[in-house]
Amino acid sequence: MNKNKILSTLPSIDELLCRDSIRELLVKTPRNLVVREIRNAISDLRNRILEISEEEKGNYHIDIDKITNKVIARSTKFTNMNLKKVINATGVVLHTNLGRALISNEIKEKIWDVAASYSTLEMDISTGKRGSRYDHVVELLKFITGAEDALVVNNNAAAVLLTLGTIAKDREVIVSRGELVEIGGSFRIPDVMEQSNAKLVEIGSTNKTHLKDYVNAVNDNTAALLKVHTSNYKIVGFTDEVSLKELVKLGREVNKPVIEDLGSGVLIDLRKYGITYEPTVQESVQAGVDVITFSGDKLLGASQAGIIVGKKYYIDKMKKNPLTRALRVDKLTMVALEATLRLYLNMDDVVSKIPTLRMITESTKSITRRSEVLFGRIKQISGGLTINITDDFSQVGGGSLPLEKLTTKVITISSSNISTTKLEEGLRNYETPIITRIQGNKIIMDVRTIDEKEYEVICEALDSVAYNIRR
Ligand SMILES: *Cc1c(COP(=O)(O)O)cnc(C)c1O
Repeated sequence: MNKNKILSTLPSIDELLCRDSIRELLVKTPRNLVVREIRNAISDLRNRILEISEEEKGNYHIDIDKITNKVIARSTKFTNMNLKKVINATGVVLHTNLGRALISNEIKEKIWDVAASYSTLEMDISTGKRGSRYDHVVELLKFITGAEDALVVNNNAAAVLLTLGTIAKDREVIVSRGELVEIGGSFRIPDVMEQSNAKLVEIGSTNKTHLKDYVNAVNDNTAALLKVHTSNYKIVGFTDEVSLKELVKLGREVNKPVIEDLGSGVLIDLRKYGITYEPTVQESVQAGVDVITFSGDKLLGASQAGIIVGKKYYIDKMKKNPLTRALRVDKLTMVALEATLRLYLNMDDVVSKIPTLRMITESTKSITRRSEVLFGRIKQISGGLTINITDDFSQVGGGSLPLEKLTTKVITISSSNISTTKLEEGLRNYETPIITRIQGNKIIMDVRTIDEKEYEVICEALDSVAYNIRR
């Protein structure tokens, strides 16, 4: 058969629309979408036919079922939710690609109430006058952190941008070379500095910066001294940095504000739970830092937000900056943040109520027990799976506590008749995607980031994936 002859056997759009499977699809899928996918499928096939080689031409035939299956798969993919729940079996608690901090179950009704109803977002109910969306959390943040005032913007990158743009526009900001952090997603301190029109003055060296380096760099055009918490890396060995206390003391002497980008926003001392020391917001406030910025959805465990706390004088200036309006947070962010911060009013059980903190501090005993339960359930799945429990480490993730190795138990799974990559891919493409790690020739599931309620789905998925691939 020559190519033109093959092309003449291509089905028409109408022909495909009459197929039973497509008619079934049309019951729940918009017609124009299905027509578009049919047109695309036919066009793909036409291009493919034009490319086929001489040898292939001989016995080439068009498989109509293959075309309709493609149309069904693509149309369904389009009508299903793309942004949806997944099961995180990686053991990385703050997984940036999987949405970072989880919002506490305790507050879900509060969020829905504000999302689906009118709310007090910008009304002061006692006076009936216009209020500010920030007021819902300002008193809470002041109470919890001890700061004079607070402001909330979209994320911490925005908080740093607003702070520098307000305090240091067209002036100099002094930063240690050991703190020129890159966070990922192109957030680099030097770049943010440039965006905010502040001039970066680097001092010291990568591993050592002394007080005299700051002293020597201060001049009339200095707007601020900036300290950046190296949240996602550690410089170890022959090192020296100027403590926050010393820096604040110098700031007072030379009459320049001290700004700190704290990153993680921890509000409790994690050492109580056997986790490496991570500087808390309260300590920075107490040290006298003028402006402190941190994330809402890292170790604080709330919605994506950039929180700025500090001296009222500077926060007032930022409120007047037109950029604040552009960085304004949504009511969903605000309600999740307020409700999460309220959980911090009871510091004794906050760790059990905020998922991020609960997962990071879960005891080995509890993890071991839970992994045995999941192991027992997976073991009942018939067919070719080799399952074990072994020791491993979970990570905090999200660029927080980079050196922390949380001891954990993981379930390892391999199969005699399915490759590990196929197994991983199958689980990832399941209706509720299950994200696992591959180590050697096994997949790994870390129960630290898996909720007990998710065991059922994991077993269903394993069963279905193993079955489908065997078939
Ligand atoms: C994470 C981080 C940021 C960026 O915060 P986002 O909330 O992701 O915008 C900035 N600075 C430091 C030190 C961080 O750790």
